[in-house]
Amino acid sequence: MATIPHFSFSKMVGESENRDEPSSQSMRFIAAYDTESKSCIENLETIVNMHQKHEIPATFFIVSSILNKGNIGMVKELLDDPLFEIASHSYSHTVVLDHPICGKVKDARKEIIDSKIILEDIFSKNILGFRTPCGYPEGLRGEKELLELVDEAGYKYISTMLWGPGFSLPADIVEAFTYEKEGFKEIWEIPGHGWHENVLKGHTKVTVPLVVWPTKWPEIAIPNRYIETPMEEFQINKYFIDTANKKNKEHITFIWHPWSLGRFDNKMEMLDLVFSYINKIKCKADTFERFYKTKMKED
Ligand SMILES: [Zn+2]
Repeated sequence: MATIPHFSFSKMVGESENRDEPSSQSMRFIAAYDTESKSCIENLETIVNMHQKHEIPATFFIVSSILNKGNIGMVKELLDDPLFEIASHSYSHTVVLDHPICGKVKDARKEIIDSKIILEDIFSKNILGFRTPCGYPEGLRGEKELLELVDEAGYKYISTMLWGPGFSLPADIVEAFTYEKEGFKEIWEIPGHGWHENVLKGHTKVTVPLVVWPTKWPEIAIPNRYIETPMEEFQINKYFIDTANKKNKEHITFIWHPWSLGRFDNKMEMLDLVFSYINKIKCKADTFERFYKTKMKED
């Protein structure tokens, strides 16, 4: 078990932020990975081991075209554990809606529908969820044509709301909702929160203004330089976990990429720290799929 040292940014954020708050009963921590390249697959085993060590579930959003004869066997074996959910992260990681950082749409149908068919064939499971490449500040609000494709594919939930206003970061802690206004009351949006961790490390240089000023976030949530250690990354995640907890949010989930996590921290020390913390505060942990199913029951 990793030991969790005292929060070293305490001077900045004050003592009251420093305590390990016991988790509220309802909040769920959802670990999720946008699995989108060969390098992601190379880091999968270390990630899976960390989940099994702490018995923390995870959702792997997978780009279907990165799977091939050479790696399918290994990926299937690694993810063959009831802790894990497989979901879609598109066919080729091309956006389904024009994006200021990630480029233009090509074939939304293929990204949304074909990826699901391919993943279901490979893993012999129902794929319930779609995480769009890159994500949007408003998710797919108002995008009826895209939601129609999501519906046609048979997804139960999507995770497309992954940015703050005007493509700023961090993304606020937004609760799950349905696209009822657009005419799809069966389709849930489960937003992602906080940072795209690759941006925190300078692994993806973004050309949009990151933080909107005046900012609602304290300094701990918006470091003034690229982070340098797994401990710093843990502390930022801890801030969002504690904030979600205090505000009685129903879920907290971050936008993690195996390629970027591995390049920064190939032993996955940050995951070790986060999962130790989640277990220490007795926070429930779930996959997107199980979280969606609890939302359905409440509805
Ligand atoms: Zn992605």
